[in-house]
Amino acid sequence: MSEQVSEQQWTIEPVGYIRSPYRQKFAIPRQPGLVKSAIGSIELVAPYHHPDCLRGIEDFSHLWLSFVFHETADQGWKPLVRPPRLGGNAKKGVFATRSTFRPNALGLSVVELVEVQLSPKPELIVRGLDLLDGTPIIDIKPYLPYADAIPNARGGFADDRPSTGVVIEFSEAAEAGLRRAHAHPHLRQLISEVLGQDPRPGYQREQNWQKEYGMHLYHYNIKWRVQDGIATVTQVSAE
Ligand code: SAH
Repeated sequence: MSEQVSEQQWTIEPVGYIRSPYRQKFAIPRQPGLVKSAIGSIELVAPYHHPDCLRGIEDFSHLWLSFVFHETADQGWKPLVRPPRLGGNAKKGVFATRSTFRPNALGLSVVELVEVQLSPKPELIVRGLDLLDGTPIIDIKPYLPYADAIPNARGGFADDRPSTGVVIEFSEAAEAGLRRAHAHPHLRQLISEVLGQDPRPGYQREQNWQKEYGMHLYHYNIKWRVQDGIATVTQVSAE
């Protein structure tokens, strides 16, 4: 790609940061709302943490979050990308996808607003996240159903909600780990929803790899295997 220096540049700074259960990119759902139990919060930073900035926001059920794909921003972008949804084979134009590798590395997610907390510091509790812990939020806007919900819209290569049919089971050791995770009573549900998305790369799904997979949710180390459409959680342990 030839580089063209633009006269028009803007400086964008975070208005806050996401606190999320997701501590690594692997296993994060590909869009918001797919894992409803993924609850987190937006911690606002000065000068945007003034309660005036949030006045009336509690009247909205959902919010649009603009954010920076900060973890991959330095990897640049290409005009064509291979959406995982298409098995990693077909190529689509970057602007025809929601790829993280894009000019300006900006992301957009709609999330459910669960609660507005003003003290000890202003914070928005949100649900259905697809964002890495620590993601910089650069803007927050209310979701407007009359304008944003378009019932007959076409969804191109991602027209329907992805479904995997994967069934989730927990081993005895994982059950014991869950019993010790008092601080996160919804951890079982969260793990089930995340693994229900089958985060394995497409080629590993097809070949029914016998690999043990791992992810971190909060400070828990979670391991699982998948065989014949059953994901068995083998370990849930605090770090
Ligand atoms: N809903 C957003 C994100 C779609 S891509 C949009 O359409 O713009 C979703 C993927 O982004 C997740 O699966 C995760 O792997 C990745 N991701 C989430 N937060 C990230 C971050 N801070 N930096 C880089 N990648 C991130």
